Amino acid sequence: MSEKKIAVVTGASRGIGRAIALELAADGAFVIINYNGSADRAREVLDEIRTSGGDGACYQCNVADYAACETFFADVVKTYGRVDILVNNAGITKDGLLMRMSEEDFASVIDVNLKGTFHCIRQVSRQMLKQRSGRIINMASVVGVSGNAGQANYAASKAGVIGLTKSAAKELASRGITVNAIAPGFIETDMTEVLSDAVKEASAKMIPMGNFGKTEDVAKAAAFLASDGARYITGQVLCVDGGMAM
Ligand code: NAP
Repeated sequence: MSEKKIAVVTGASRGIGRAIALELAADGAFVIINYNGSADRAREVLDEIRTSGGDGACYQCNVADYAACETFFADVVKTYGRVDILVNNAGITKDGLLMRMSEEDFASVIDVNLKGTFHCIRQVSRQMLKQRSGRIINMASVVGVSGNAGQANYAASKAGVIGLTKSAAKELASRGITVNAIAPGFIETDMTEVLSDAVKEASAKMIPMGNFGKTEDVAKAAAFLASDGARYITGQVLCVDGGMAM
């Protein structure tokens, strides 16, 4: 196992994170599948990885909880000795128009999406600095670039993730650590499943390629950014959006 790269994927029990975990495992990494509430779903992802000849582990941690992240990464480093790849994918939405958005709904989205990403980078960077290598990939969103009516909290969190990505990239580049963001457009997951048919139709019209992407589309991009082939790419925001943001 020590030969394998150690990858941590947050929010890997479902959706995009699940696809990234499977993809990194297929590329030979030992994948730590983080989840918050979906223990059974996380276990299924691990079973799927093992069935395909890979390996990994499940770990519950609410990324919004700084102390929990501290324990999480300390345990990972103690058990596996290193962290080669961190994918900050965990994210939530609590959509609503600004006028009606509660303080709690604004804060909780920032806490998971933006602070959670900071917590994990903060915990992993010390180890990666020691290793003088590492790959950090943060899940942003096209709405972090463009804004979106009804998603002020979410768009602010994702714009924050982009600023955090570029700042971390500048701080860590000289030690061989790359930090990049992926900005997906509309991808078919539980998160977009809740949208009404009217919103889905209107959204598809904004996508030059005409339809929602698949989780694998994002996973392939993440696997590339985590690969040796991407060693000279840092501080970038890669849109995986069927042309939506151009
Ligand atoms: P999803 O299907 O709703 O899955 C969200 C994942 O995040 C789950 O595994 C969930 O774990 C985990 N999670 C949520 N809160 C967490 C917390 N506090 N601590 C740890 N894990 C937590 O979402 P998705 O569509 O795959 O989205 C994944 C990422 O891509 C998010 O950052 C999202 O903002 C971003 N994104 C998605 C789209 C899209 O169209 N789907 C577009 C742009 C960006 P549990 O089930 O265990 O709670």
